[in-house]
Formats: sequence, C-alpha cells, structure tokens
Amino acid sequence: MSLRSTQATESAIILESISKQISLEEKIRLLSGADFWSTHAIPEIGLGRVLLSDGPSGVRGELWDERYPSMSLPSATSLASTWSPETLEVAGQISAAEAKKKGVHVVLGPTINIQRSPLGGRHFECYSEDPLLTGVLASSFVKGVQGLGVAACPKHYVANDSENERFTYDALMSEQVLREVYLAPFEAAVKQSDPWMLMSSYNKTNGHSMSESPLLKNPLKTDWGFSGVVVSDWTAVKTVIESARSGQDLAMPGPLTPWQDGLLEAVNAGEVPESDIDEKVDRILLLAQRVGALQGLEIDSRADLLYSSPRQSIRKMAADGMVLVRNDGALPLSQSIRKLAVIGTHALKGRIMGGGSATVVPVAPVSPLKGLRAALPNVLIDFATGCHLSDGLEELPMIQCWIDDEANGVRLRFFDDKDALILDEIRFASKFVKMDGELEKTAKRIVASTKFRALESGVHLFGGGGAGEIEISIDGTSIKTAETEFDPEDLLGALLSPPQTYVEKFLEQGESIDVLVSYEPSSLLAWNVVSMTIGYQAPRRSDAEEMDFAVKIASEADAVVVVVGTTESVESEGYDRTDLKLPGLQDELVRAIVAANPKTIVAVNAGAPVELSWLQHTAATLIAWFPGEEFGNALADVLLGQEEPGGRMPNSWPFSLEDAIVSNTTPQDGYLTYSEELNVGYRGFHKEQREPMLWFGSGLGYTSWLIESIQAPSQISANSDLQLEVKITNTGNREGSHVVQAYLSCESSSVNRPSVWLAGFKRISARPGETLTVGLTIDKAAFRHWDTGWEFEPATFRLEIASDSSLKDALHTDVLVVKRP
Ligand code: BGC
Repeated sequence: MSLRSTQATESAIILESISKQISLEEKIRLLSGADFWSTHAIPEIGLGRVLLSDGPSGVRGELWDERYPSMSLPSATSLASTWSPETLEVAGQISAAEAKKKGVHVVLGPTINIQRSPLGGRHFECYSEDPLLTGVLASSFVKGVQGLGVAACPKHYVANDSENERFTYDALMSEQVLREVYLAPFEAAVKQSDPWMLMSSYNKTNGHSMSESPLLKNPLKTDWGFSGVVVSDWTAVKTVIESARSGQDLAMPGPLTPWQDGLLEAVNAGEVPESDIDEKVDRILLLAQRVGALQGLEIDSRADLLYSSPRQSIRKMAADGMVLVRNDGALPLSQSIRKLAVIGTHALKGRIMGGGSATVVPVAPVSPLKGLRAALPNVLIDFATGCHLSDGLEELPMIQCWIDDEANGVRLRFFDDKDALILDEIRFASKFVKMDGELEKTAKRIVASTKFRALESGVHLFGGGGAGEIEISIDGTSIKTAETEFDPEDLLGALLSPPQTYVEKFLEQGESIDVLVSYEPSSLLAWNVVSMTIGYQAPRRSDAEEMDFAVKIASEADAVVVVVGTTESVESEGYDRTDLKLPGLQDELVRAIVAANPKTIVAVNAGAPVELSWLQHTAATLIAWFPGEEFGNALADVLLGQEEPGGRMPNSWPFSLEDAIVSNTTPQDGYLTYSEELNVGYRGFHKEQREPMLWFGSGLGYTSWLIESIQAPSQISANSDLQLEVKITNTGNREGSHVVQAYLSCESSSVNRPSVWLAGFKRISARPGETLTVGLTIDKAAFRHWDTGWEFEPATFRLEIASDSSLKDALHTDVLVVKRP
C-alpha cells in the first residue's frame, strides 16, 4: 500500500507535490547518505539534511569531541532494571532535548535485540532477555523521544543478538520463534509508539541479509503498518537490486554506497521499479517533515521541554536501576562509620557506558570514589586499585600534559599533501575523531604533540593509534614507526578503537618530555573521517603489591566498598565475550578483601552477566550496570540509603558460562542455530528445571513484600485482555518499590510454547505496612501463539503473580480461554 494513499492530510498533499518536483536522479541520490551521519539536502525544494546520531544512552551528535560533550545516560540494562515505562520515557525526553541542542533529527536507538546469550557484546545496549519487557520499555523510550519532535530508531531488525561474525552470520530459527521472541519487541514498538525510523541489521536471518530481507515489507510495513524510514546499519547495504527491491529505504553512511553507483542504471534497466524509489523517497520526505527538516512544514514546538537538571533525573534512574542481589544487613551503610575503604580500578574511574557506537564523550562523569567522598565528607576514605585490569593503554591524563608552562592540553595539527599547515588546535584530550568537514578530505598528515610531566618514577608507555602510518617521537627523536590496518567492514571499530602501537620510556618523577605522534591516515579518508589517539600507561606496581595494599586498607576500615567490572576490551560492540569472568585478578581481589573485612560490599560495574563465585561471602552485593555519568552519586545514594536500589534483573545470570541457556555464540559455517527456540533465559531455566545464580525479575531492595491475593476472572474469551487485581503489602519498615510480575504457562497446550512467560508487570511503591490493590492488564497478545498466523488456543492457562521469575513466592490461579461465542 502506498504511503500516499493513506495520508489524507494537508501535509501529505504538500509532500506529494514536493516529491513531484524531484528528478529521478535526485531521488536516487537522496536514498544514500550525504556523509557519515546525514542525508542529502535539496535546498531548491526546502529539504534540509536530516542528521542521524547514536544513540541509545546519550546523544553524541556528529562529533566525538571533548569540546561538545553529551550527557551519558544509564545504559539499557540499567534502564531496563527499573521496569518502569515512565523512566524510559524520561530517558527518551532527555535524549531528545540533547538531540535538539546538537541539531540532531534522529536518535539511533533504542537497541531492542534480545539478550539471547550473556556472551553478547552488545548485551548492555539491549534491554532484556524477555520480549515483552523489551517491547514495553522500547515503546516508552520512543514516545519520549518523538514527543519532542525528534525521531527514534529502534534497531537492529532483526536477530542481531550477538557480535561474532556480526556482518554475515545467518540466524536460523522457526517462524514461530522469530515472531514470538525476536520480532515481538519490534512489533510492540511499531504498533505502540510509531517510530519514524528503524534500522535493519547486518546479519542474515533465515537466509536473507537483513538489508534485503522480505521481513522489511512483511510484517514490518504491511502487517504492522510501519510508516517510517528503514535505514541500513552502517555499510550493511552490499547489493543494488536485491536491497533496493526490499523494503530498505536509506543506505548509510554516504557518500560511498552501492546505490549511489548502481541504482539509477538498475531503475533505467527496469530491474528496480520506479515506484519502489518513489515509496522510499516519500518515506524520507515524511521523516524530514516530522523532524522539521522540510521548510514550510514545521513541527510543533513542544520541543523545548526544559530539564533544569537532567543530572538529577539521570542520578535517580541510575539508582532505580541498581539491583541489590545480596544483603546480610550491611546496607544501607551505617551513619556511624568513621573509616571506609574504597577498592577497585572501577571505583577510581567507573565504567559509565559500554563500548562501541553507543559511546559518547560525557560531560562530567562522577566516579564511585568521587561520589562517596562527596557524600561522606566526615568519613576517612582510603583508596586502593587492588589489581590491574588487562586493558592496555588509556588516554593521556590531561593534568600531566602541557602546551606551555601555563596550559594543559595537546596540540593537534593537520597538514595537507604539500605539508602546509591547514589546522592548528589546542585540545584537552588525546583521542581525536574528525568527521565534521572538508578538512578530512585534504588532510594528509596529523600531528599530536604535548609536553608530558611524569608524576612517578618508572616505565611509562606512550602509544600512537590510527589506521595508517604512525610515528612516535620522544624529545624530537623518532622512536618507532608502524603501519596499521583496519577492517573496512568495521568502520566504527576503526574510528573508536584505532589500532595502536607504543614505546616504553623510563622517567624520573617530575621529569618532562616532548611526546609527538605523527599519523598518515589510510583509506579511512575515503569516508572523510579520521581517528587517532595518543595512548598512555603509567608505571605499574605488581598486582601482588596492589592487592597487599588493598587488603591492608580493608582490614583497617569499618566497611569496604569494592567496585569490580568488565573492561572495554571484553565488553563492547564488535565482539562477543569468550567467558563470563571478571577481567584480571578481580575475583581473587574480592575474596582477599572479604577475608580481611566481613563488612565488604561489592558493586558490579558490568552491562551483562558476570560470574560471581564469591557472592555468598560478601556482606552485600549490588549490580550497578553501566549507570551513566552520575554513577558515583547514584551509588552513594543507594549505599547510604538516600535511595533504594530499586532495580529488578532484566535478565538471568547463570552461575557460570556452562550454565547459561546459550553458552556459545560462534556461528558454525556461518550459521547460528537458535536451538533453545522459545526458551530464552529464565524460560530455559524453567524448562531444564535448573536454577540460575540470579533470576530474571529478582532484586531485594530495602524492604520486603507479601503478595496477599489475586482476583482474576476464571474464564475469558480468546482474543481479549485479562484484567486482574493483586493485593500486595510492604511488610518491611521503610518505604520502597517493587515490581509485581505476572507469568503464564499452559501445561495442557497442544502447541509448542515457552515453559513459562512474562505476561504483564507493574512497578509500584508503598509505605511500610501499606497494602496496595494493584490493577494489572494482561494484553491479549500474551495468550496468542504463531502457527501460520496468530492463533488463540482454547486452553487452561496458569497465571502466576510473583516477585521474580523463580516463581517461588507466586500465588496462582487458572484462567480458561474459550473460543469467542
Ligand atoms: C552499529 C549501529 C550504529 C551505527 C552507527 C553500527 O556499527 O551497529 O548500532 O547505529 O554503527 O554508528
């Protein structure tokens, strides 16, 4: 069905007349990006460029540049742990406000793939292992963004659930599994929140590359009525005819796409119908109109929702997403402590976000150490790193870098092919990504230099990163040259973590040296982008020395907070993990600290499951996720009891990798068979009658709850919602929040079904002793199953109301679904 025929509005008529003014050549040009982040403008018809930007947990804008930072929001697993659609809507609104500030029209998020295996590199970026929870939260985020006139872009459609061979693997599953698990969140997002854009994924599903897949037309555009633009993932369009004939509308990034070169010819040869081109153009024009990039068709001005303090909201959502998984009474921390030991590399820095395209340059990140120091001004706080993490070089510490005697920073110079200086800037960073103008086209050589002052004696490492030719010089002498390459498929990888080489240099404390990295970029320039870094590693004490010192300060303190977590080299877009262990000696560290001080509280700073073999020995353990730039403040709020750790797990954590329902994400001959079928995550644990370490839906908070009763009809007609009421009491002695969860199962079913599935939920809060009557609606979709279409089976379903997916405290009732009279 053409979009035109469905839009009887005035703007549709204007859009149609605009579309008629564009020649076929211009239309085809419009279907490929103009550059890395934006579409082509056609000023003659009042069409401006549409600017796209990642992403899901903060809106970066066109640049990775410390001069234009972006508020880093909690990552998806953190947000999802709130189980709060309202929170997700606020996260969407904050993202839209940031987008407006940066001139961004489309926020490339939310990421709504399913957390199929804990190994998945982008686990942190997705909401949950459960399709219902994912779909509800995604829709709220989209509503939050689009309510302010900015487009959201759920991604990656579909089955981009792991990263090994991510550009090519073929996910194999039955139509039922595809519909009920992997397409379900997209269906919910499209139907409930009408996203204006959606991104097709790199991988194949059931034999088709997703940028050529029939699934783009049906169910997406026909059955579900998606009215937006299907954008490709970056460089995913590889063909002309197959992709153009599918529902793929826009190939990104530009200017180099197969469509740019071959589509006009294919249309002229009759291989791609012109009507397909028209439909794509219509969708792009409609998008432009929706986001205010089409003159004369302004969006309304609700856009300026003012967040006097987004930091406050981000801090609260980070606390609401922290999940308390063990507490022997150590939390909240007593006000009477005098001496606190804070331990861990992540306590000093804190991982506020995961790696890859979701990264932003944050505004002012608050580390756990900083947050605790601010919250406890009268407590003596000792700090130790405890052990090193395996990551190599980091960014240069700016306080040790000098431009001259007065100013900190790094000098960055660009030279053209005649070695003439074309740009000279002073920067407060050592990682540089340039993709903002003409400069990248003409730059031949880029030189970053600084005077570095050593704070301690020892061997310092200085690195040079970039795809191309690198030369590192110290005090005017060239020490090392290297040629590095990048995988042209993985443009983002080359931009975000360019290959790096390094030199070692012994320095005395206080000694200064001139460090200079000269870089000649290679073929990245074809994309008009460059990326280079100066890396650094300070002299290191041995792990044994670090650990001894940590144990010493722990044994002298009234309580200890250890922050452990994953690093960017193990948890990021671009690759899957190979195990679920904490990197480095962090497990040994926790055991040693617990032995030294029984009042040890551990905060886990990871976006995805990690093994916690020491969990039962800690006084308390909290899953903090990647909580955004208010990490330290939110952690302090929770540890000190200003806020409740309000989160409930959005996924199940196995005891070890072997226990995971899916413990291998390496394709076999290019194929990934989804053999667990419908039983992803908690459903799989039920099916196999095994316990995970942490159940989906679980979390302790600071109070306790009793589910008193359920009131539900014993019979409903097929294809109708189920309304029920749950009485629940806060049996603890402080105000708190909880998530009432409804699960269904159907033992007598004659069709293939999950062992059990989440059917509805509601986050509530109550005062101590208060009993609430909570109304819950179970959408009719919870009862359906896919056969050759959606069906409703007349059967008895078991409805369980529980505090988590273990169903241990569940009350249940049977509901008979009968055929409609
Ligand atoms: C990622 C997308 C992202 C795009 C642009 C790709 O590598 O898969 O999620 O939006 O890059 O940064």
